[in-house]
Amino acid sequence: MERVFAYVIVGGGVAAGYAALEFTKRGVSHAQLCIISEEPVAPYERPTLSKKFLHPESPARLPSFHTCVGANEELLTPTWYEEHGIELVLGTRVESVDVGQKTLLTASGETIRYETLIIATGAKALKLEEFGVKGSEAENVCYLRDLADADRLVNVMQSCTGGNAVVIGGGYIAMECAASLVTNKINVTMVFPEAHCMPRLFTPKIASYYEDYYQSKGVKFIRGTILSSFEFDSNGKVTAVNLRDGSQIPVDMVVVGIGIRPNTSLFEGQLTMEKGGIKVNGKLQTSNDSVYAVGDVAVFPVDLCGRIRRLEHVDSARKTAKHVAAVIMEPDKTGEFEYLPLFYSKAFSFSWRFYGDNAGEVVHFGNYLGTKFGAYWINNGHLVGSFLEGGTEDEFEAIANAAQLKPAVDDLAEVGRQGLNFAMTG
Ligand code: FAD
Repeated sequence: MERVFAYVIVGGGVAAGYAALEFTKRGVSHAQLCIISEEPVAPYERPTLSKKFLHPESPARLPSFHTCVGANEELLTPTWYEEHGIELVLGTRVESVDVGQKTLLTASGETIRYETLIIATGAKALKLEEFGVKGSEAENVCYLRDLADADRLVNVMQSCTGGNAVVIGGGYIAMECAASLVTNKINVTMVFPEAHCMPRLFTPKIASYYEDYYQSKGVKFIRGTILSSFEFDSNGKVTAVNLRDGSQIPVDMVVVGIGIRPNTSLFEGQLTMEKGGIKVNGKLQTSNDSVYAVGDVAVFPVDLCGRIRRLEHVDSARKTAKHVAAVIMEPDKTGEFEYLPLFYSKAFSFSWRFYGDNAGEVVHFGNYLGTKFGAYWINNGHLVGSFLEGGTEDEFEAIANAAQLKPAVDDLAEVGRQGLNFAMTG
């Protein structure tokens, strides 16, 4: 069996949902667009999985967090796709793609032919086995990338109330999971090799604010070491984790958040790759004219940062997806993708956003003993990045503008003294 579509999106996550909405806004006809997804549900807001989905009271469940509610836009249920004539092929993995022939082959044996392909395959969680540790398949070891993982995590969590969890990793997924575990009355120890949490973004000062708060909630931090192996019981359940520093921690469950790898394998040897992702130009077009890439998998030029980047953040997935639909549907009216990187996270009652680039020297501002504080990154005499915890919408907008406008800064201490006012009045 073979079907033909003008536009095919491979991958049915955040980017696919936002692209679908934009395609319809720009007049795509019925039966022109097809989305093929390995997941059995319509595109949803993935960030919910480590936040409201894990709440002990009134947790978020589908259909409430399908795209595009995360950007305060329409909720695209499966019926919405049907009504708009968009073919949603769910629970179906694309096994191979031939960009020369413009065909792809699904796991159900169907060949689908396209005129234009959009790659939105996202990323997968890195497994412990890639670092030489066995045990990912144990029933009380959890990862968190998709809905199936989240369902599993909830079940394991519910069976461990009052028990002990070790969270492996110190990035935002690990931090958000640790907060959720605490809220679900589980004792948490976080283990990571770096000197502090969120090492790719946070300064030691920012990290210590959050770590202090987590500690006040009972979370223990073991820094500067890594997991070396698990102890198992006779049923294959993990009973303890062994760390490289020689210590052993008894556990009821383990959550692993050690990073992701973009899903590029369908296109290796067919498209130009860079920085572990699929390289695209300012129109989000790959090295093949008929193929575009968006979201976590795409490496695109970010002029504000003066280099190409692959961003693993939801805002970039939403905006690259919208832009690609515009490029394809209205090529003459659509310019290059211009982007101000935004990364946010929420845990406990915290909510922070970071805009721009974390390059250069850092100036901290605000009250690090209170609930509102931030930092600016100054590179080559210009403000290039801004971070704020606990801001209002106006304040977040102001720090975004500052990162966008890149004002000249010659006196770092003065910017620190002005703090948030520097962005608000700038
Ligand atoms: P995804 O949303 O990952 O979608 C990819 C889809 O493609 C998946 O459905 C996958 O099954 C499918 N697929 C892959 N290969 C194939 C194939 N061969 N055939 C068919 N289908 C395939 N970002 C933030 O900025 N802030 C946050 O607070 C935040 N929280 C997050 C919390 C969690 C738990 C996770 C996992 C991510 C979070 N993110 C956050 C990151 C954000 O969700 C991602 O950047 C975003 O989902 C990327 O969108 P995407 O469409 O590129 O990929």
